[in-house]
Amino acid sequence: MSRAVDGSTIVAGVAGQPVKHSLSPQLHNAWLDAAGVNGVYVPFAPPVDGFRRFAEGLRGGAVRGVNVTLPFKEQALSVADRATARAQKAEAANLLIFERDGSITADNTDGLGLLGAFRDQAPGFDMRGGPIVILGAGGAARGAAAALAEAGAPQIRIVNRTLAKAEFVAGALGKTGRPYALDQAAQALAGATAVINATSAGLVNGGRLEIPLDATPEDAVVMDMLYRPLVTPFLQAARDLGRRTVDGLGMLVAQAEPSFEAFYGQAPPAGVDARALALKAMEIHG
Ligand code: NDP
Repeated sequence: MSRAVDGSTIVAGVAGQPVKHSLSPQLHNAWLDAAGVNGVYVPFAPPVDGFRRFAEGLRGGAVRGVNVTLPFKEQALSVADRATARAQKAEAANLLIFERDGSITADNTDGLGLLGAFRDQAPGFDMRGGPIVILGAGGAARGAAAALAEAGAPQIRIVNRTLAKAEFVAGALGKTGRPYALDQAAQALAGATAVINATSAGLVNGGRLEIPLDATPEDAVVMDMLYRPLVTPFLQAARDLGRRTVDGLGMLVAQAEPSFEAFYGQAPPAGVDARALALKAMEIHG
């Protein structure tokens, strides 16, 4: 980063625990560089039990806003004074804007990111074509479920380690939602047109996701929201079975675009290959 920082620098960032894995700082700072915007984008790692204090402390707009990643997305919504319809539907926020009057606005751009990634990497995939499976029932899963419902998915099957959370997320979808426990995954995958991993297994505590992907139809699309490594063991297993895959980097870039605009008042500059840039950052930063 070669930009000078002064009294009018617009400060934004990403808050998560852990936050080290996030590529958002590389992405947003590269866009800032390319656009010549006087801004900076920094990672924040509030303590796991300290997100509310962190967000309350930013009221007033000294920091323009933050993206929010795990495990804070539900808390991010609850700390806000108002929320967009899509954040309310997702019951989670990945974007907080700190208004000058001291209030906080919440939004959720994860759904846009998910649909953008499918458009780019699984062209022709029809969201309305059949049941779609989401693995996980956290903030990212809720955002995905709301976006898929909005895009016309006829049935959304939520598979989660903690069944009660799957029931909650599926329940919020009305007759479109169906909850499954992890040991019922094969049932959920049967007949699915797409499977989306929205768990943090593999990211936190080294947990590994054992999912019988061979229970999916041959033409099913398999997506992983995790993007480190770009081809996760989950995506590799799908590829080994010959399934079409969508990686998490596409979603990261597509959810970051509207966030950038909300922070800095303009769309990311054209002509920056955000995906190539993120891939390079992954090489450099591991
Ligand atoms: P949350 O902490 O809110 O939810 C985590 C989910 O993962 C829960 O459903 C949890 O199940 C499940 N889980 C965790 N460990 C395991 C395990 N070992 N086996 C099975 N299930 C497990 O996280 P988020 O929803 O915010 O994020 C989920 C993932 O999506 C993260 O990896 C995040 O980085 C990624 N993500 C990527 C985005 C992108 O742009 N590519 C955007 C948003 C998120 P339980 O309920 O039982 O605890």
